[in-house]
Amino acid sequence: MSEKISLRNRFIQTILRIGKEMTWYFDSHIHLSDPVYDPDIDILLKQMKNLQIKACCVSMNYKNSLQTLDLAKKSDLILPFIGIHPECANEEIENISELIENNHKTISGIGEIGLDPTYVKNDSDTKNQNQVFEKLLSFAEKYNKPVSIHSRKSLDDIFQIMTSYNTKHSLLHWFDGSKKQLKKAMDMGFFVSYGPVLIYANDKQTLLSKTDESQILVETDGPVRFSRCFEMKSGQISFIPSVIFCASKILGKSFDDMASLLEKNSNSFLGI
Ligand SMILES: [Zn+2]
Repeated sequence: MSEKISLRNRFIQTILRIGKEMTWYFDSHIHLSDPVYDPDIDILLKQMKNLQIKACCVSMNYKNSLQTLDLAKKSDLILPFIGIHPECANEEIENISELIENNHKTISGIGEIGLDPTYVKNDSDTKNQNQVFEKLLSFAEKYNKPVSIHSRKSLDDIFQIMTSYNTKHSLLHWFDGSKKQLKKAMDMGFFVSYGPVLIYANDKQTLLSKTDESQILVETDGPVRFSRCFEMKSGQISFIPSVIFCASKILGKSFDDMASLLEKNSNSFLGI
């Protein structure tokens, strides 16, 4: 066999992972219950099975949380997270509270929750965001669930609030802070996740190289769209192997070692 062919076979084996102990890949934050994915959802679930990918499927609000719970009934590769995104923090909290109470045995976590001044118009919006965030954090604590946190332009406030909560199973998704904030996140025990942007953004690559190995996760945050090499394509779960590959190169690990590390970290985040 020529070297070229054997290399190609090795590549195919790595992608399909034929004949070895299967490592599960995890997308730690994706909105698979977003209606954008509806027309292709059966194909996507098949793809997840073939690629051996599990997904933490996060929700935006009450209605979307119901969609997430429905989707999770279709496949055990969907790990349902329900909650209220800071963009939707003016919604009533009662419905989602009841939904969590009634489904705490089946949900994998609480999210997407957090703070984001981008969506705030006045003081009452700020107050609502804080109240909803803290209420949902207290549910996570009550039922011992991991949380997926949105922290755009709000990291310092989130650090402050989280001093009163357990951070052992808390993810600062799409981590976008400074090196100093990363250090703080590491010291407080947060997981941080990196997505497709890692492939083309030097600042994210630097942050990854400074992240404690045991606190790294990967995600796509689909259906967010990505520029550069992704040509404004909407985030797909099938991007995950590329993100893992990129992380492995930055950290000087083999692809398989990186995938195993991420599997271990994902299980630890999820408490399973
Ligand atoms: Zn998100």
